[in-house]
Amino acid sequence: MSVPVNPRMRNVAPWISLLKTLIVCGVLLVAGGPAAHASAPAGLDVIHLQLRWLPQFQFAGYYAAVAKGFYQEEGLDVRLHPGEPDRQPVAEVLAGRAQYAEGNSEVLLARLQGIPLVALAAIFQHSPSVLLALRKSGINSAQDLIGKKVMFMDSKNDPDFLTMLLNEGISTRQLTILPSSYNFEDLVTGKVDAFNSYLTNEPFYLKQRNIEFTVINPRNYRVDFYSDVLFTTTAELKAHPKRVEAMRRATLKGWQYAMDHPDEIIDLLIDKYKVRKSREHLQFEAEAMRPLILPDLVKIGHMNPERWHHMAETFVRVGMIDASYSLDGFMHTGEEEKRLPGWVMPVLIAAALLVVIISLVAAYFLRVNRRLALADSSLRSANETLTDSLAEIRELHLRLREQAIRDPLTGLYNRRYLDETLERELSRAKREGYPISLTMIDLDHFKHVNDTYGHKAGDEVLIALSTLLQSQAREGDIPCRYGGEEFLLVLPRMSLEVASQRAEQWREAFGSMKTRHGELEICVTMSIGLATYPDHGATAEDLIDSADQALYQAKAAGRNRLAIAG
Ligand code: GH3
Ligand code: MG
Ligand code: MG
Repeated sequence: MSVPVNPRMRNVAPWISLLKTLIVCGVLLVAGGPAAHASAPAGLDVIHLQLRWLPQFQFAGYYAAVAKGFYQEEGLDVRLHPGEPDRQPVAEVLAGRAQYAEGNSEVLLARLQGIPLVALAAIFQHSPSVLLALRKSGINSAQDLIGKKVMFMDSKNDPDFLTMLLNEGISTRQLTILPSSYNFEDLVTGKVDAFNSYLTNEPFYLKQRNIEFTVINPRNYRVDFYSDVLFTTTAELKAHPKRVEAMRRATLKGWQYAMDHPDEIIDLLIDKYKVRKSREHLQFEAEAMRPLILPDLVKIGHMNPERWHHMAETFVRVGMIDASYSLDGFMHTGEEEKRLPGWVMPVLIAAALLVVIISLVAAYFLRVNRRLALADSSLRSANETLTDSLAEIRELHLRLREQAIRDPLTGLYNRRYLDETLERELSRAKREGYPISLTMIDLDHFKHVNDTYGHKAGDEVLIALSTLLQSQAREGDIPCRYGGEEFLLVLPRMSLEVASQRAEQWREAFGSMKTRHGELEICVTMSIGLATYPDHGATAEDLIDSADQALYQAKAAGRNRLAIAG
């Protein structure tokens, strides 16, 4: 099945010929920049507004504002331009081909990098961008992505996913990140395990085909982005402040209308904009957008400086911008939110001389403002509580995970973790073609230590050896307590030769160490078996067996020595 993709997925073949026609018309239309178009009805300012993608319900508010004449009422002749791979909102605005556009987090990034853009309204309070996985893959959380193949775009477009991984303590090296093929079938056929999608789009296809799926949403991992943001340039704001207000007002009115009359806008999309999606798909999209726009809870377009800071911090965390950024002047909510409702103006004019009415209106205005402030502060405190609870849950989750993979006495990884990890390390070594060495260590005559000095003294010896191994480990080495007084070290990218030198050093260092136990000093030696991938085995089981046999030989040959697998 061929699947039309969302704005981030630019499978455009069917649109090429339409694009060519548009370009030819467009060249004539934009030749002199936006201000040069004279074909507007008398008295209207021609405005070019660049959308992010082809017509679909995602842009419903703009179509509504055009169709219902909201822009015209404000003296504007707004021309909507669909997005294309080569027509990116920020670039179009910077090139002067559009004065306004709709973009995602790249608008903020551009601003932080010094491009003078101004955000006017955030239409989506939460981003629809998520990872989808098939239910049968067993992936239910971000942690489950470890060792899996995940498709998404680069960090410029996906700082939300990178931060989600960071928040979960997952390094990007622990998964295979592939650049998006934009082909949703790659998920369905299992070519990849998780695929970057829009909540408003791809789930429709999976539901239609009765394929069960799970959603990994960065929002559940403390990453919450605005999306579909109306923006312009500081130059436009400076030169035409009233026009900016008018654009914002009419656009938000269009969005309110679209949210209140989705079926009418779907008809418009099908009849006038010739949208290729089915009516059911557009209805699905409209429904899926409600919890992201939240028209019943939040004033459409609402922006909160804290949320923008949260997004900017995300860029800082993934290293895209410096921590000393400033957001001054980026957010422009204008006069619209402070404006009185439309009916107040005629009343005010009619009663201009009546001071009583003026004070009544003023009182009303104050009350609305107070209520708004109250609502905003309770929203903020609810948000904070939620953030705190999520942080606690995450901390608890991390603690439990730590407990599950660590040995309580020595703090080293336990056998369970080793079993989980060794297979994964081996697949990576096979893929990238490097060796892995495995050393299995067993203390010599340890029963005798316990019998002579007591179990507690034995414990101290075990802790001393763990500290030694831990201090010698490179980044990427996996030291683990494999059993009672047996230790196993996985040494990725280490040849047999280097590993045998290192193992000898540890053996000598430990043999000459004295562990203090009260007044006593205890000396213990150890025997080591060494095996290396690929020379002594290609699976985890074979490698561990080889190291174990070598250890047996070291014991048989008199202990306190290193033996290499045959
Ligand atoms: P060999 O040189 O052949 O390895 O002799 P050994 O005495 O070390 O023999 P073996 O490996 O069979 O004995 C292991 C001993 O380690 C038995 C057990 O009492 C002790 N042991 C296992 N776990 C712990 C622990 O957590 N603390 C202490 N103190 N001793 C432990
Ligand atoms: Mg033993
Ligand atoms: Mg032993």
